[in-house]
Amino acid sequence: MKRFVYADNAATTPVSREVVDAMMPYLTEKWGNPSSLHAKGREAAVALEDARGRIAACLGADAKEIFFTSCGSESDNWAIKGAAYAGRQKGKTHIITSKIEHHAALHACAALEKEGFTVTYLGVDEKGVVSVEELKAAITDKTALVSVMLANNEIGTIEPIAEIAKIAHEHGALMFTDAVQAIGNIPVNVKELGVDMLALSGHKIHAPKGIGALYVRKGVRISNLIDGGGQERSKRGGTENMPYIIGLATAMENAIARLPEMVKVAEIRDYLIDEILSKVPYSTLNGPRGDARLPGNVNIGFEFIEGESMLLLLDFEGIACSTGSACSSASLDPSHVLLSIGVPHERAHGSLRLSISNETTKEDADYILEKLPPIIQRLRDMSPLYEEVAKKAKK
Ligand SMILES: *Cc1c(COP(=O)(O)O)cnc(C)c1O
Repeated sequence: MKRFVYADNAATTPVSREVVDAMMPYLTEKWGNPSSLHAKGREAAVALEDARGRIAACLGADAKEIFFTSCGSESDNWAIKGAAYAGRQKGKTHIITSKIEHHAALHACAALEKEGFTVTYLGVDEKGVVSVEELKAAITDKTALVSVMLANNEIGTIEPIAEIAKIAHEHGALMFTDAVQAIGNIPVNVKELGVDMLALSGHKIHAPKGIGALYVRKGVRISNLIDGGGQERSKRGGTENMPYIIGLATAMENAIARLPEMVKVAEIRDYLIDEILSKVPYSTLNGPRGDARLPGNVNIGFEFIEGESMLLLLDFEGIACSTGSACSSASLDPSHVLLSIGVPHERAHGSLRLSISNETTKEDADYILEKLPPIIQRLRDMSPLYEEVAKKAKK
């Protein structure tokens, strides 16, 4: 029987019923502007500060350290550009990041390079772990910022942020981490990580698209990205998106409450990885195993196939997932993350990312395991390259 299996939670998640219910009053009767001094405004202001406090509590932060933004990409841009511009005022014009960051962070750094900043892109090992040795060699007292993501969105690698932050601080640099994929999947505490800034996004944790937040540690000064009125203590202009902010607070609390379920998610992840690797010849796991990997991330490279064709055939069977192949992006190159961990072009083009959640069942996994191998075989049967390999294997 045909099912619908959503295995693309790293791309976005459905908005949960609880989030919708929490948001609803702020789309209807509680429509005030939190900057207004009258009762309608004060009602909104109280709710805004309540949401800020609840989100701060989820991260081990203080309410004053949370700033609302329009999305994870804005948070990444603000942290990176804001720290760079603030650093430049003190003569610091160097930024260190990694080769496997999300494009929001990577392209913010590229934009700064065009403005005269120097950017070092740290390499990663074959599992995707950032090289601390390269960091130590690259960092100087001219380094304004070190920006490394907490968990990778493609291959699920969890980075040694506490160790990296320590090195950044020893050299007087600020430390930023993009925690968009980590929230709700692993515990995230700003104090334990020792970071100065941390980005999160609503739509990866069952809140709507178009809401994010940036944690900025007390005492850390970064330049504004969006100038405007006095909102967000004059650091981020724009009337606060009240319904979405309330939704984000509810989503954050639910994400934390769900953490114990991640043990089960990791079991299904490992079941999928082991079964796919054993059922499909010429397949390789991309990224690490075990606790070094996000509990919901599976990324496997298949030789002799094109990711897009595989995706379309899986979609036809009701399975939603994604690929690191080229056509899924605007460029002709396959995933920069897969290339950075040393995956050859051919295998990067044939990569499959399944990002599962606490709602993914064993039956869902079995459905994927039933549908995927014949699809791969069907595509390989059309590949002249595979034909040759198959012939040789028979001899
Ligand atoms: C999705 C994502 C972003 C961007 O967040 P948006 O809210 O979609 O702008 C940034 N970083 C990572 C790691 C992501 O997965």
